[in-house]
Amino acid sequence: MPVADLASTIHEIPLINVDRLVKLVAKYNRKLAKAKQPLVTFTEGDRVVKKAFYTDSEGVSRSIGYLEYVSITINGLAPSIGGYTLAAVIDCSLAGAIITPLEAGDYTPFRSKANQCDHCNITRKRNTSYVLRNVSTDQYMQVGKTCLKEFTGSLVDPNDYASFLTELADVRETPSNTPRGSEIMPLVEWLAYVCANATAHGFVSKKAMMEYNDKVDDHRKAIQSTANRALINVFGDHDGSGKISWEALEQSAKDMAVLVIEHCRSIVPSSDYDLNIVNLANEDNVSAKYFGYTASMVGMYIRSNLKAREAVKDDSVKSEWLGAIGDKFDVGAKLVSVRIIDGSYGSTYLYRFVTGEGSIMVWFASNEQQIEIDQLVNVYGTVKKHDMFNGTKQTVVTRCRLYPKPR
Ligand SMILES: [Zn+2]
Repeated sequence: MPVADLASTIHEIPLINVDRLVKLVAKYNRKLAKAKQPLVTFTEGDRVVKKAFYTDSEGVSRSIGYLEYVSITINGLAPSIGGYTLAAVIDCSLAGAIITPLEAGDYTPFRSKANQCDHCNITRKRNTSYVLRNVSTDQYMQVGKTCLKEFTGSLVDPNDYASFLTELADVRETPSNTPRGSEIMPLVEWLAYVCANATAHGFVSKKAMMEYNDKVDDHRKAIQSTANRALINVFGDHDGSGKISWEALEQSAKDMAVLVIEHCRSIVPSSDYDLNIVNLANEDNVSAKYFGYTASMVGMYIRSNLKAREAVKDDSVKSEWLGAIGDKFDVGAKLVSVRIIDGSYGSTYLYRFVTGEGSIMVWFASNEQQIEIDQLVNVYGTVKKHDMFNGTKQTVVTRCRLYPKPR
């Protein structure tokens, strides 16, 4: 094996550890500068997002979701250690030796003689010693930390190099938890979670959530935006509850996410917002910063589908009757009109909805509802009557409640 040469080493490092790498290289360079030696530099290469695993204290490999990794090339030379290379670090400060290999090898024999030094031949209680490998014979020898510089005659203290290498190994490790804000995931997977929520509860934008929550007097009636719900499904609530695994997510939501991306990639931009959406839709991954922004793609997609339905002439609208008389239903719909009818017992409010399927639904409500024209809601109620209006089938419904709201 050749002498360790930093110029040939490429490391894959979690992106969130790059700051530590910068500090580590700067620290080592201060030592090199003092010894008037060439400095170490590094260059960043390709980035890749992948499922991250770390090894827990029981040695079990555990997933922490997705992380972004960057390929790093370290440029620099290993210090000359007089025909030897650093092979392993032995920490002898504890009762049993802790050996950190810097290159592959069998270091078992060193466990029983951790306090030995082949340079000064004095066996005494040591904190750190090193296993060196003779580059030409491949034979190992062990040198105590205090003897190392004298043994190698190197201008750079090999101890500094050794700690640089051990700390570098640490920087390569995947952290055991994803620090807040560093989450990243494939866009199509994120949008599938958003689609599942939008289908189940209606799409609720952040703006709609804030406006609704401003009006309700009781915080228990407060609603969550679709993006918030989806975030809980992906990462769990504060107590870790509410997670849905990718495998458990319904296939229809996964299919819909693909359509949402196709739609957003093909929109003709007419604003900065549109341009941002197109750019985000062309990315394979989405980071925490843009979870909310990209969730709005699903809202855009649903709105464009509803518009396409409205563009169809009234007489060709495929409005069908809902359920049977007396049936309970819960359906996603958009409010198309509201009319106030004044009567001798007070006002009645006539709400006309179109469902996602294009069916017309009318409700005579005795109270005014917190809803605006074009707003998407879920309507929960009972089928009262099937009738015709201007040649179109419509379902008269009663005893309705409008969502989104917690159930
Ligand atoms: Zn010694």
